[in-house]
Amino acid sequence: MNATVSSGLFASIVITMLLGPLTAAAQDVPQRMDSTLRWYKGNTHTHTLNSDGDSTPDDVVRWYREHRYHFLVLTDHNFLTSVEALQALHGADERFLVIRGEEVSDTFGDQSIHVNGLNVGRVVEPQGGESVVDIVQRNVDAIRKEGGVPHINHPNFRWSITPAELQQIRNNKLFEIFNGHPTVNNAGGGGVPGLEEMWDAILSSGSLMYGIAVDDAHTFKDPGNPNVAGPGRGWIAVRAARLDPDSLMEGLERGEFYASTGVELIDVETTATGMRVEVRPTNYSKYRIEFIGQGGRVLQESLEPAAAYSFRGDEGYVRARILESNGRMAWVQPVVVSSGNLLESSMMLLFGAGTIGGLVQLRRSEQSPKK
Ligand SMILES: [Zn+2]
Ligand SMILES: [Zn+2]
Repeated sequence: MNATVSSGLFASIVITMLLGPLTAAAQDVPQRMDSTLRWYKGNTHTHTLNSDGDSTPDDVVRWYREHRYHFLVLTDHNFLTSVEALQALHGADERFLVIRGEEVSDTFGDQSIHVNGLNVGRVVEPQGGESVVDIVQRNVDAIRKEGGVPHINHPNFRWSITPAELQQIRNNKLFEIFNGHPTVNNAGGGGVPGLEEMWDAILSSGSLMYGIAVDDAHTFKDPGNPNVAGPGRGWIAVRAARLDPDSLMEGLERGEFYASTGVELIDVETTATGMRVEVRPTNYSKYRIEFIGQGGRVLQESLEPAAAYSFRGDEGYVRARILESNGRMAWVQPVVVSSGNLLESSMMLLFGAGTIGGLVQLRRSEQSPKK
């Protein structure tokens, strides 16, 4: 308890000490204060006729535009669908954006190793390799080399990637904790963990990864059929300064987003001292908000649509999930919480990392949660 109080106090003291210099800097440099950031809803995994989807890129983009998404990444298998004409037709400033992407689709025996490259500059060929870890890493590296942001897809599809393998991957921040395709085994089974359980295993091992929810939509011509990969099942909302590819990618890689299967949040706030979540409630639903730490342990539960958790300092990491009474969910990204980390985040603040508050600094940290 003493350690908790002192680490929290220390962070507050350091932040207080720094308010002067940061305020002064604000006169010269445009500040990305929270009030200027907006939430943008999008999907980062979608197929068209350019691979195994059933619809033209135009029809696919139209579906998301008409369903009030803000952005869409087209990710055909080993193919970079051109987005310029689509953007000219459907794009609108601060309203809708099409981003190019690719699902780099590799194999290892019977296993399918798929890694999305978001906003990738050129087509990336599957890189192959000697093992699952080697193949994932080579593809992640190849995507980075072309300026893209990697995210590792559906680990339980053909039971391809284990948590022990995922936690060895470097230079990758994102992996799917929900995929809308009906045969990707999100829930696990037969002794294999589900994706959320995998996430806690990875986080508990000291590897900081953010969980993304996607459609992996292939089928637009059979609406309402749960046995095909239709659109609208998994999405994210990214907090960013502008609706442009760079701002969104930056937000994603800092974990400034939540993942959802239908629960919308009004706000998420993470500071050096705690995390607060507020659901946008719907008329007939009830909600449960859980704050989760090391090993997947539930640290605190709330039965109201808004809840706050105060960091103690020994949680390792803290994330939140929201369960809605009809089975829909949302997941708030983890932050590393330990006394040492608060120190590190404060030091980053000291050396001009930018915004006030612990959020960005905590999330930028590569430091491991405590075992
Ligand atoms: Zn795939
Ligand atoms: Zn796919």
